[in-house]
Amino acid sequence: MCGIIAYVGPKDATPVLMEGLARLEYRGYDSAGMAVVGTGGLKVRKAKGRVRDLAEGLPRRFKGSPGIGHTRWATHGAPSDVNAHPHLDGSGQVAVVHNGIIENAAVLRSRLERQGVQLVSETDSEVLAHLVALADGADLEESVAVALAHVEGTYGVAVLDQRQPDRVLVACNGSPLVLGVGEHEMLAASDVAALVRHTRQVVHLDDGEMAVLTADGYRTSTLDRRPTSKRPMLVEERAEAYAKDGHPHYLHKEILEQPAVVSRTLSGRLDERFHTAHLGGLGLEARDVAALRRVKILGCGSAYYAGMLGAGMIESLARIPADAEPASEYRYRNPVVEADTLYVAVSQSGETFDTIAAVRELKRKGARVLGVVNVVGSTVARECDGGIYLHAGPEVSVASTKTFTATAVAFGLLALFLARIRDLGPADGKRIVDGLRALPGQIDEALGVDRDVAAVATTYAERQSILFVGRVRGYPVALEGAQKLKEISYVHAEAYPASELKHGPLALVGPEVPTVAVVPDDHLLDKNLSTIAEITARGGPVIAVGHRRELPGATCVWTVPKNEPELDPVLLGLPLQLFAYHLAAALGRDIDRPRNLAKSVTVE
Ligand code: GLU
Repeated sequence: MCGIIAYVGPKDATPVLMEGLARLEYRGYDSAGMAVVGTGGLKVRKAKGRVRDLAEGLPRRFKGSPGIGHTRWATHGAPSDVNAHPHLDGSGQVAVVHNGIIENAAVLRSRLERQGVQLVSETDSEVLAHLVALADGADLEESVAVALAHVEGTYGVAVLDQRQPDRVLVACNGSPLVLGVGEHEMLAASDVAALVRHTRQVVHLDDGEMAVLTADGYRTSTLDRRPTSKRPMLVEERAEAYAKDGHPHYLHKEILEQPAVVSRTLSGRLDERFHTAHLGGLGLEARDVAALRRVKILGCGSAYYAGMLGAGMIESLARIPADAEPASEYRYRNPVVEADTLYVAVSQSGETFDTIAAVRELKRKGARVLGVVNVVGSTVARECDGGIYLHAGPEVSVASTKTFTATAVAFGLLALFLARIRDLGPADGKRIVDGLRALPGQIDEALGVDRDVAAVATTYAERQSILFVGRVRGYPVALEGAQKLKEISYVHAEAYPASELKHGPLALVGPEVPTVAVVPDDHLLDKNLSTIAEITARGGPVIAVGHRRELPGATCVWTVPKNEPELDPVLLGLPLQLFAYHLAAALGRDIDRPRNLAKSVTVE
């Protein structure tokens, strides 16, 4: 599920591949490698460790074109030099890089061994190189098509054959691949991030599609070799969007750029005349909305928590029963799919495997599915009936911050849109439009607590465990706060509805276990103050985030500006992002690339 980059053209492929691999690093990986066709044939280098280590070990003579590169996230076989990609066939003529999982690898391996093939790695991927070589097609296209016909599972692949040095073959099924169309050169990558330095003209391959790339262009076809026709589209991202801009980490940059991000999410979408949201991509008629009986939101990780916030907004504004569920669970429980339910799939990358699977299951059962997605043209975006793009720009840090906030804002827009067709009157519509419009400025103000949060985070950095509590709208905020802390600091954190505290977790509270409490100035304020009192009575320190400057019992309070109650959670989450960031920084963690996690989880 990690990264692929490929190049064919007049340039030396090596620096292009190196730069591409560096752009893919943010996705998390354990080894890297590349192959180029040089004057003497295929040259291959691969190693466990960082792209930097690979670059340092490259001999000067390592030159050629075309070339393919890979960052690996081990699924079959430990991270090691041998298991790193590219993998070669026995004669060293064919090189393959692969993202994904070949499910029938064991069967294919023993079949190949019976044919006398010697496999050198423990990976599932290596079989591909041998299968391509054995297919012995009239051209590389045919060989790859024949090889892939044996394969069950998911793949993004790029293949070189030194006997056909004018081309790279790429194919995908359940693992993304994007072609980059340059001037007399072609690229391909698993992620647009690796292409934007060279071109902004891209072509997304569909599942079951392959493409032959030469310096002069590309041809796409299905895996059974029926030609398909794909026109390039222009991507918004520019290479500068991937710069750190003087911040120590991408995560800090991405937290602080949220005012601009939310302005983009809102841009052109607030309808001041009818006090509603203008969402061109939904494809929902007023009649469809009137007939809705339920809204079901699906996502994984932070996308799920953002979906919980969204469900709260939809239920309170549009008065349509709404809830969120992890897509990873939903897809397996044979859910009842109802014609009058609106399904919404949330995925930053639009490539989250579990979310895609849920969308496909829903579509198969005839449901209407909308996508809330950041990456334009991604699989979820393509497969849904309509949706909302976040326009948050590329998010490089593995842990999501700006896309969480942008997703919550997108749900604010969706809730407003649905509500104004249902029961919400123009005055309340205006209240929400004004609230949404105020968000970028208020986010800027809320992020002003950066320094205070840093100081507090440092004092709590050595704690073993931190609790997060919130009520109703504040609960998803607490969940996401705990999630962020776990992800990047590795400190154990757990979120509970504040109302549940005395039904169990209160047993954990004491001087050593701080609690972060989400305490907005709303009708539940008194209840939340009682919760704080219960914690402090047991000696537990309380850090609160809310609207008042002081709250009885709390050791410190981070205040954020007050918006409308339905939209307040968007602001209340911000100090918690900063808390996770500064605590992780105090512990010296690898913040942008936390251990064991990847940016887009394209495997199950
Ligand atoms: N399953 C392959 C392996 O373990 C590819 C993993 C990846 O997508 O990086 O080598």
